[in-house]
Amino acid sequence: MPATVVVGTQWGDEGKGKLTDLIAKEMQLVVRYQGGHNAGHTLVVDGESFALQLVPSGVLYDHITPVIGNGVVVDPFVLLAEIATLEAKGVDCSRLRVSGNAHLILPYHQELDRLTERYLGKNKLGTTKRGIGPAYADKAMRVGIRVQDLLDADIFREKLTAVLVDKNKVFARVYNRLPEDADELADRVLTEVAPALEPYIADTVSLVHDSLEAGQNVLFEGAQATFLDLDHGTYPFVTSSNPVAGGACTGAGVGPRYIQRVVGIAKAYVTRVGAGPFPTELFDSVGDHLVEVGREFGTNTGRRRRPGWFDAVMLRQAVRLNSLSELAITKLDILDALETLQVCVAYDVNGVRHDHLPYHQSDLHAATPIYETLPGWGCDLTGVTERHQLPAAAVQYLEFLEQQVGVPITYVGVGPGREQFVHFSDAG
Ligand code: GDP
Repeated sequence: MPATVVVGTQWGDEGKGKLTDLIAKEMQLVVRYQGGHNAGHTLVVDGESFALQLVPSGVLYDHITPVIGNGVVVDPFVLLAEIATLEAKGVDCSRLRVSGNAHLILPYHQELDRLTERYLGKNKLGTTKRGIGPAYADKAMRVGIRVQDLLDADIFREKLTAVLVDKNKVFARVYNRLPEDADELADRVLTEVAPALEPYIADTVSLVHDSLEAGQNVLFEGAQATFLDLDHGTYPFVTSSNPVAGGACTGAGVGPRYIQRVVGIAKAYVTRVGAGPFPTELFDSVGDHLVEVGREFGTNTGRRRRPGWFDAVMLRQAVRLNSLSELAITKLDILDALETLQVCVAYDVNGVRHDHLPYHQSDLHAATPIYETLPGWGCDLTGVTERHQLPAAAVQYLEFLEQQVGVPITYVGVGPGREQFVHFSDAG
């Protein structure tokens, strides 16, 4: 049975949560495959807002098993708090399953994240300081502690004691900090966390394959986005995992042959949080307008996002990197009041035109966008539910994007609500 991947195609915050939620209706399993609790999906259901950090969006549907795959890094305290918050709102989380192979984020990862960012000073990466990078670093260094270790107290204690010998040297000698007490932390995790998480811990690779083999639909839900990908993003201003569609294979344990549909999510304009190159960035009143109307402030951090025009060069690259089969455009309504719209169709790098993303990042820093200007529509789109109700200028804008990017736009978001979208073109 076909598996679908939903992936962000810009620098995150594209509104993946809402689109995933929409597509999830036809799914039996929704699997997160990378990232940690820096995802911050927001869903609005019946006027109530749900901010999800770790739990997959599908949790809001009774027929879906939400799965946290092996590629995710899990802060167990945050996960339990999120489950408690959802349950308090009446959302049943008992179907949630967490991979035993997923790595744990523990307090010393957060401390290291905070300290390294502080010591980098003006060169800081702008991480969310949640310990995600240090946890992935430990995974690669083979000193990480996995969710399954919670099920064996002796192993957990042994691994924690061993890893803290090293971390405590760094805390003391590099950062002049007090050491983390291994016994104290082990006691806390083994009493506060392990018993509460145990019912959710599972062999999620078998779960995913049993589901696929039974002919069910499986959705792989990416967090962050293509240009924050560790390999393909604007390094080092990236996340420490692989959000691109291929990350679903490693992060959930399936081969690429299962994946038939890859839905890219793009905002009708672009935003980015923190540092890093951004060719179409706006520093004028239009940028302020996009931030204000689009409420472009981080779900978890409250940080103002940097705004810019839609960049078709980036999107062409996202189509390649993810094998996108279709695109969903979100937040078209945020452009309602603008008289004219610009779309970046190519870059000028030192007098040379680039239709595709230059591989050298210095060229990206030097890139001047080549824009095409299109008319705005000057009316409120938030009540539109059918393509034929869209004003001609909005159709022109979307068709222009389709032509520039080379894949059909299947869905268009016109408001934050679950029902505020338009079916635009059929999937190719
Ligand atoms: P994600 O991390 O990609 O899920 O993105 P966020 O949740 O950070 O940002 C999406 C925000 O935009 C949320 O507040 C959504 O409710 C909202 N949103 C999603 N789609 C639309 C849309 O089409 N129009 C408007 N106005 N808001 C939207």
